[in-house]
Amino acid sequence: MIFGKGNRPNFHDFWKKEPSQFPWKREPSHFPDETNFQRRNNMKIGIDLGGSHIAIGVVDYNNELIDKTERDFSEEDKMDIITIIENYIVENINIFKEKYEIESVGIAIPGVAKDGVIIKTVNLGINNYDIKSSLEEKLQKTVNVRNDGKCACIAEFENLTKEDKAIENANILFLTIGTGIGGGIIYNGKLLEGHTFEGYELGHMIIKANGIPCKCGKSGCFERYGSILEYKNKVKQRLNISKDINGEPLRDIIKSRKNEILDLNEQYTGDLAIGISNLINIFEPDLIIIGGGFVHYSSMFEKELKDMLLNSSLLFNKRENLDIRYAKLGNDAGIIGATI
Ligand SMILES: [Zn+2]
Repeated sequence: MIFGKGNRPNFHDFWKKEPSQFPWKREPSHFPDETNFQRRNNMKIGIDLGGSHIAIGVVDYNNELIDKTERDFSEEDKMDIITIIENYIVENINIFKEKYEIESVGIAIPGVAKDGVIIKTVNLGINNYDIKSSLEEKLQKTVNVRNDGKCACIAEFENLTKEDKAIENANILFLTIGTGIGGGIIYNGKLLEGHTFEGYELGHMIIKANGIPCKCGKSGCFERYGSILEYKNKVKQRLNISKDINGEPLRDIIKSRKNEILDLNEQYTGDLAIGISNLINIFEPDLIIIGGGFVHYSSMFEKELKDMLLNSSLLFNKRENLDIRYAKLGNDAGIIGATI
């Protein structure tokens, strides 16, 4: 199977072949000559570009991340963000080139991409910028650009199939529930992508008419109700705690003061269930994978969420059970997915 479209180097044609033709495809122990020399060749660079952070990684033939560098953007950087990003990418790829033979470069972007052009990013402030052409000229390498939720979706799918071949033909709904909501759909083993635009903007499905305004320009989007950021903001406001408290300390407070936010938890779970049930009704996935910051909060919501999905009238087709799993690659999913 292959993801993405067109203009890939020949290396990727290799992957189009069925695993049976290349039995070592996902089994490194079968690789014909797995020497250090072999490992240093055929490397791919994956870049995860976020609203406040960039990470560049070297990914091998088995979709394993083997080297990585990253930095945060300062407020000052944002004044000339394109130059900062491109310089950082070129400098670090030149350093990696001394250690690895680089085949191609992929970039995961927090927004909409089309033919290598960043059409719009809400949190990064880059719009209508042809990053593919610019970097290809500087790097003399093929550069692919794709939405970060879809990159993570592909990476998690490939990671799952390493462990469970039965999943190769599964229909999968992947949701990143973090600052916003993104994700992708794997249908019969392939990532669904639109022709005119990438599409499948799962977080920007409207779940409330005339609802809360979204950064995308619409109102009532799923991510304004279901993102973990929205949940945390509501909790912080209710419990009157500092906006700077996050991570483990915040989760400890939430658990110890649970009784004060029962209605918020119920509302959040209900909104999540509406959004997820809409997606289940459209795509009827065999498996749902959830990634993003939600993973750290999943134990608080998973039972109620599943109950609500299975035992209410939200699902068009009644189900006995739902296979919901959590993403395993964490912050590296964007880098890895950008190279596939
Ligand atoms: Zn929106």
